[in-house]
Amino acid sequence: MNNEINPWGSTDIQDYSKLFQDFGISPFEDLIPTVPKPNKYIRRNIIFGHRGYGKIIEAIQNNEPFAVMSGFMPSGHVHLGHKMVMDQIIWHQKMGGDAFVGIADREAYSVRGSSWEMCKEIGINEYILSLIALGFKPDGHIYFQSESDKIMNLAFELGVKVNFSEMGSIYGFSGNTNISHTISALCQSADILNPQVEDNSGPKPTVIPVGADQDPHIRLTRGLANKMNLFRIEKRADKSNIPYYSVRGKSAPNEALLAIKQRFDNNAQLFEGHVDIYEFDDYEKIAQVVREVELKYGGYAFMPPVSTYHRFMTGLQGGKMSSSSPESYIALTDNPKDAAKKIMRSKTGGRISSTEQRELGGVPENCSIFEIMLFHLVEDDKELKRIHQECKNGELLCGHCKKYAAEIMNQFLTSHQIERENAKSLLEEYGISYKN
Ligand code: SF4
Repeated sequence: MNNEINPWGSTDIQDYSKLFQDFGISPFEDLIPTVPKPNKYIRRNIIFGHRGYGKIIEAIQNNEPFAVMSGFMPSGHVHLGHKMVMDQIIWHQKMGGDAFVGIADREAYSVRGSSWEMCKEIGINEYILSLIALGFKPDGHIYFQSESDKIMNLAFELGVKVNFSEMGSIYGFSGNTNISHTISALCQSADILNPQVEDNSGPKPTVIPVGADQDPHIRLTRGLANKMNLFRIEKRADKSNIPYYSVRGKSAPNEALLAIKQRFDNNAQLFEGHVDIYEFDDYEKIAQVVREVELKYGGYAFMPPVSTYHRFMTGLQGGKMSSSSPESYIALTDNPKDAAKKIMRSKTGGRISSTEQRELGGVPENCSIFEIMLFHLVEDDKELKRIHQECKNGELLCGHCKKYAAEIMNQFLTSHQIERENAKSLLEEYGISYKN
């Protein structure tokens, strides 16, 4: 079943390790030591999985071009779950990536029935202001899907490479799914591939930081990226079991195949529809040459998008965060004092009495206060470790701990909301014209 995880369904994933077996997501843990200046989501294993993130690490290490892209559906309040994605976009931007943000208003219109006007208002007043307030530099790379002809045109081209039954198997769409919902999914794929065509900058590794529920978009788009390309590279073996690479021209003109053959000179042989390359065991170099030739002959030469997957925060009351239950989450636009009160009312991993807690210690693994400090409030790892230890050994009691978290949240939201006000004056400079 491909549709067990669904971008418009439940985010209550019980067993993240199953995603490795069921969907081919790779564990992130092994990569952590190789990430330069890892952010807290990486250091703390909140990012648990990836597809192809090695390419981004290489680009950061070698100061080569790469991009980061994510989208936000403009519905409901911007909250700490969105902040996690925003922080990751901003971190990649600081590490040298071109950063793109799409406001998925076509998705909100087709899936949630939101009006265009509401999408615009929420997109700017909730999401864009918080993004800028957190440190995102738009650089012209923030847009509404409905206002971008480029996205729509690319989505239309992508649509030729996928049919309804494939969309059904990836997303669980049925005969009742409205057509615009299907189109909006193609727009997400266009969003994801757009950094590789924007400004004719060409193919580059592009990471999409998402929750695991968004993986269907990544799987669809990785498949589409390959289908759109003029060539496919296969590793094969001859009759003597000696390996070689075969570059198969799917819809490439013969001259393009000839151009590839010429780049590998005596190592390559041209056949009808393919070029075989012998005694040249460097896949990356072959892929690079194939991309260069493809671009010359009018193809996109897309690199498959890279993804990272983060764990979800639980609701403040335990269970899931839900937009229909404001007590379960903290919005970045919440009154700071109200947010602090929500923290004081949150579920903890404490014992039934302070005596018992001193004896047995608390359970930070089951505590929404500890989780909110882990994900957002405590930047310093040593400080977090101290809280964890003091909780476990009974030195720290929940009342004191909650007050501490509530105070940091109050301070964070107060300063974030000042930054949001400052961001309003930057909208025009960034070419974002809406005024409320
Ligand atoms: Fe949670 Fe803090 Fe209580 Fe430990 S002491 S269970 S971390 S609120």
